[in-house]
Amino acid sequence: MSISNILFDQAKKIIPGGVNSPVRTCSGVGADPLFISHAQGPYIYSEDGHKMVDYVMSWGPMILGHNHPAVNRALHEAVDKGTSYGAPCKPEIDLAGLIVEALPGVDMVRMVNSGTEATMSALRLARGYTGRSLVLKFTGCYHGHVDAFLASAGSGAATLCIPGTPGVPEEVVANTLLADYNNLSQVKALFEKHGRDIAAIFVEPVAGNMGLVLPEKGFLEGLRQLADQSGTLLVFDEVITGFRISYSGAQGYYGIVPDMTCLGKIIGGGLPVGAYGGKKEIMEKIAPCGDVYQAGTLSGNPLAMTAGYHTLKTLQDMDYQLLTDKTEELANNLKKILTDKGVPVQLNTIGSIFTLFFTSEPVRDFTSAKKSNQELFKTFYNQMRDQGIYLAPSGFECAFNSFAHGPEEWEKTLDAARNVRF
Ligand SMILES: *Cc1c(COP(=O)(O)O)cnc(C)c1O
Repeated sequence: MSISNILFDQAKKIIPGGVNSPVRTCSGVGADPLFISHAQGPYIYSEDGHKMVDYVMSWGPMILGHNHPAVNRALHEAVDKGTSYGAPCKPEIDLAGLIVEALPGVDMVRMVNSGTEATMSALRLARGYTGRSLVLKFTGCYHGHVDAFLASAGSGAATLCIPGTPGVPEEVVANTLLADYNNLSQVKALFEKHGRDIAAIFVEPVAGNMGLVLPEKGFLEGLRQLADQSGTLLVFDEVITGFRISYSGAQGYYGIVPDMTCLGKIIGGGLPVGAYGGKKEIMEKIAPCGDVYQAGTLSGNPLAMTAGYHTLKTLQDMDYQLLTDKTEELANNLKKILTDKGVPVQLNTIGSIFTLFFTSEPVRDFTSAKKSNQELFKTFYNQMRDQGIYLAPSGFECAFNSFAHGPEEWEKTLDAARNVRF
């Protein structure tokens, strides 16, 4: 038995499923999780002593690579000043300043502790600001484990919303409307019927939680237009895309300014952080300047703010276009290797992220994403992992490249792919 297996058995006795977030269990790919001892640059190391090229990168935050020296040094200095004050501190202004400067849709920003907290709070604020109850989201988009967002469509009926998990009462998702990603005519129909009651459209401007799915031309523009016509707030969930697609996020990349933006992952530099921001007029509706309540004991934590600030500061000098080009090259080469083996592959990629779907049809929404053959993915995942390439243990996730990855890691990845037997 491996050390990871021994640790997993111990964990399962005292932690539900042995993990603190479900997808880590690897059960979807018929494997057991590896316990990680440490990480450096583009590599993570398991407790068993395996060194692996990491394409999970903590599910996105580690765009600079693990244990980046500038972030690490700043964190060490911050620790010596005490780890939490529960009072305002300068690092909060430093990080907020960088975010406001970078994102066209953000005049003011409130820090929280996770992406889930960000979307939950943004939803409350959107409802409080507009005085409306309904929220529109897209199937296959993930906005954290907020009750109102854990909804899936009943047999294609876009307006009939059923809870996606036990524990969420029907009444709670009764105010959630669903549409398919990239389907503007469905959104239009919902607006014709409910437009005046919709507080907000929540959307991942580039969807990253059904695998990577790009917005088709006109989709985001159409949402902006419909929101404007109905006095609805357009909320971009940029928890993945913020500082990832470009330094100015998806909103900068596509040139569409949302009313509110949710952030997480990269802005915490590997520490637990989320944030939501938007136009001044909306953000000033939140307590203490407004009457919509939201608070947090550890919000704006000095360690987390420091890690985030130094991550963003370092990113300002990074060549996003180069990383995009390298990611495209890697992903295209992977696609070619698999295609040459007779495996059907669709590649979606933007910036430093990509997903290989094992299907012969283009993937543009949740329905087409689900056509990806998970048996083929399972084979691919396990044989890659055995060869020291660490991918997300689900076919509906993104692979994250980073500024720490280089030709050596990419070559190793391609070599491993060549050896996979389907
Ligand atoms: C990860 C993610 C979240 C949730 O963030 P947590 O920090 O895991 O709560 C929300 N929205 C999107 C788009 C995400 O990818």
